[in-house]
Amino acid sequence: MRKKIVAGNWKMHKNAEQTKELLNELIAKIPAGIESQVIVAPTFVNLASAVDHLAATAIGVAAQNVHQAEGGAFTGEISADMLTSVGVNTVILGHSERRAIFHETDALIASKVDTALKHDMTVIFCFGEELKDRQSGNHFNIVENQLRDGLFHIEAANWEKVVLAYEPVWAIGTGETASPEQAQEMHEFIRETVLKAFSKEVAENVSILYGGSVKPDNAKEIFSKPDVDGGLIGGAALKADDFVAIVTAI
Ligand code: PEP
Repeated sequence: MRKKIVAGNWKMHKNAEQTKELLNELIAKIPAGIESQVIVAPTFVNLASAVDHLAATAIGVAAQNVHQAEGGAFTGEISADMLTSVGVNTVILGHSERRAIFHETDALIASKVDTALKHDMTVIFCFGEELKDRQSGNHFNIVENQLRDGLFHIEAANWEKVVLAYEPVWAIGTGETASPEQAQEMHEFIRETVLKAFSKEVAENVSILYGGSVKPDNAKEIFSKPDVDGGLIGGAALKADDFVAIVTAI
């Protein structure tokens, strides 16, 4: 049975104090016993304190990136071993901002996926088309290629450590959202693509999150679609009330 997941990508927001404040609000406001898994992804420097802060809760902590190498002369980078050593066992990879601003290619992302899996981390694998691709009707091809080149080299057994996050680039941080029908259409295509490349079992069990301007007022409708298993949330994850409203919308 696949899981319902709502993950908040905090990007480069929230200093140490603000991180604690937001976490305290989430701890107080997320209702006990909700079925979906809630994950937050603060910045690297606040990960260890977030893990400590959330130790007695069901809220998980993810990193926003990891370096592909085990270690070495890579100034400014963070290894998988460093993350797991402070209790961070989930990592977001392939985010469109990493692809566009930091020039991460499918091949690089694939090697980060390998490193994360080797360290038994869960990977939230992000992908999605740009506006020009959707306008030219090429969006299904783009998505299929990103999955094939960044992820489909993994072994079937590793799929239990993978969460997919479809994030159309034109909907990220723009206030523009894919309609629930557009999201469902693409999620169904993604599940079908996983089925063809692996198996029905893998396809049925993988959680596929939607990301792109999910807000309290559109979350319920998007999450109601059968192939949408939750969301990866950017802007709205930075305000406790909005994030909690999205978490409870599922
Ligand atoms: C994101 O950055 O992953 C994202 C979905 O951002 P937003 O919700 O702000 O569009």
